[in-house]
Amino acid sequence: MSKVREKKYDYLIVGAGLFGSVFAHEMTKQNKKCLVIDKRDHLGGNVYCEEKEGINVHKYGAHIFHTNDKKIWDYVNQFATFNNYINSPLSLSKGKLYNLPFNMNTFYQLWGTKTPEEAKAVINEQIAKYGTKSPKNLEEQALSLAGKDIYETFIKEYTEKQWGKKATELPAFIIKRLPVRYTYDNNYFNDIYQGIPIGGYNTIINGLLSGIETKTNIDFFEDRIHLESLADKVVYTGKIDEFFDYKYGQLEYRSLRFEHELQEIENYQGNAVVNYNDSEYAFTRIIEHKHFEFGKQPKTIITREYPENWDRTKEAYYPINNDDNQKIYKKYKEEAGGMQNIIFGGRLAEYRYYDMHQIIASALTKVAEIS
Ligand code: FAD
Ligand code: UDP
Repeated sequence: MSKVREKKYDYLIVGAGLFGSVFAHEMTKQNKKCLVIDKRDHLGGNVYCEEKEGINVHKYGAHIFHTNDKKIWDYVNQFATFNNYINSPLSLSKGKLYNLPFNMNTFYQLWGTKTPEEAKAVINEQIAKYGTKSPKNLEEQALSLAGKDIYETFIKEYTEKQWGKKATELPAFIIKRLPVRYTYDNNYFNDIYQGIPIGGYNTIINGLLSGIETKTNIDFFEDRIHLESLADKVVYTGKIDEFFDYKYGQLEYRSLRFEHELQEIENYQGNAVVNYNDSEYAFTRIIEHKHFEFGKQPKTIITREYPENWDRTKEAYYPINNDDNQKIYKKYKEEAGGMQNIIFGGRLAEYRYYDMHQIIASALTKVAEIS
């Protein structure tokens, strides 16, 4: 028999992002009473879309859903129909446009190579010269994976402005996300399932949170004692170091500034994502939102994405998972693990560079563990 609730809610869920929303949805299905709060003035966390000029603007940066896991794909398809958008970003480097990810189109544009054999010969020669057997940082990883030309044309400057650190000071895993392919295939992701929810991500969030009590503009830390008294358990999806008042030190994050701009033209760049690799541009990419949904609206909205140093007044978008930060995180994690009534989950509370499908999987696993 399930335990009788002692307080008004079974769960207070701090953060209405994907983790909090999936958790609340699943627990509500099990007849648990949930209250979801968020300090922002809207639900959805970083997947939130704002409709402007009939265009779903990805307010916190481009979000493309992709997964290899049929269960996760079926899960999101309960709430929205996905279109067949395939992410094929372009890259502007030294005044020239290239296809991404690194594939036969890119190699042709770089070196004029036409066959996989020709391209492999160039790359392998460069890997042999500049690569290493056990890469210890992002620069070594990139040189060992793709050689010097690719590293210098597409990776070094972009990465250093994105992370505000030298490529030699960054962990190798960041770059493992970028595939290298010997086919003429501009699909950025290797996953089987991919697309954008028609009507934007709010459709999914609204479906997940339908019938669940939610409150926005509420910061957990401004009314912590009262909020904690409302529920038997708390699910916390904010920054883990903030939860513990930074007692083991502050974790590092990277922030972003999004500069949204309405353009009185129909089509600005002909593609949803164009990366700006050179350091002379302070932004890393320009997103043109209508292309995610093949929009025919008369105007267009673009967003320039400027990486920024994080401080406590800014949103934390990316954890910086280098060794120093991992050491600090481990202390928080150990303390969090010993707390019976608090569940930590999501990108900020688990301090991990998770994509959406991984967040959903992690929330479903957590629900299964405690059900
Ligand atoms: P969040 O969405 O960050 O939600 C946490 C919520 O908690 C926030 O709404 C926050 O306001 C709230 N909160 C925090 N502290 C408090 C507090 N004290 N009180 C109340 N509320 C609080 N993934 C992909 O799969 N594909 C992509 O293309 C992709 N692109 C991305 C691009 C960018 C620029 C970024 C930053 C991320 C991208 N992601 C992408 C990752 C994706 O955004 C995340 O995996 C997912 O949104 C994380 O969900 P979450 O619930 O863990 O966190
Ligand atoms: N990256 C790069 N050049 C590019 C695109 C990406 O060097 O044109 C590197 C960069 O270090 C970035 C990482 O690859 O942080 C992952 O990029 P992706 O676009 O997959 O990540 P996102 O910022 O969308 O999470």
